[in-house]
Amino acid sequence: MNLRGHERTEFPQSVRKAAFIRCCKQGTQPGVPQCESCGNVLRSGAIIFEHVIPDGLGGLPVLENCKIHCTVCADIKTHTEDNPRMRKADRVLKRAYGLEPTTRAKIKNRGFPKAPPQRRASAPIRKWKGF
Ligand SMILES: [Zn+2]
Repeated sequence: MNLRGHERTEFPQSVRKAAFIRCCKQGTQPGVPQCESCGNVLRSGAIIFEHVIPDGLGGLPVLENCKIHCTVCADIKTHTEDNPRMRKADRVLKRAYGLEPTTRAKIKNRGFPKAPPQRRASAPIRKWKGF
C-alpha cells in the first residue's frame, strides 16, 4: 500500500490476453509477439504488461492502459518516467498535508579549543629572495 491508500492492481487475465493478441497483430511480423515500444521479438518469460498510466497514480487495469514491453523498455519506462512521477506525487502530497519528517534541531557542539601558537626551536630559515 502506498501513501494514497491504494492497493496495487494487476491486469486481469482477459486484459493480458487481449493485449497479447493486439501485440501479435501489430508488429512487423504477424503472429509473433513483439514489444509495443521498440518492436523487438519477445521471448517467453520476458513479456511485461506495463501500465501506461502507473497504477500508483490511478492507472486502471484496462486494455487501454496496458502495453506489452520487453524487459529493457519496461525498465527504461519504470526508472525514467514512472518512478520520478511517483516520487514527485509523494513529495507534493507530503508537503500539502504536512506529512514531511519533522526537522530535528542540529546538535550544537562547543567546537574544538583554539590551539595555542606553537613555539619554534629556532628562527625560521631565511630564504634567499634575490637582490
Ligand atoms: Zn522493447
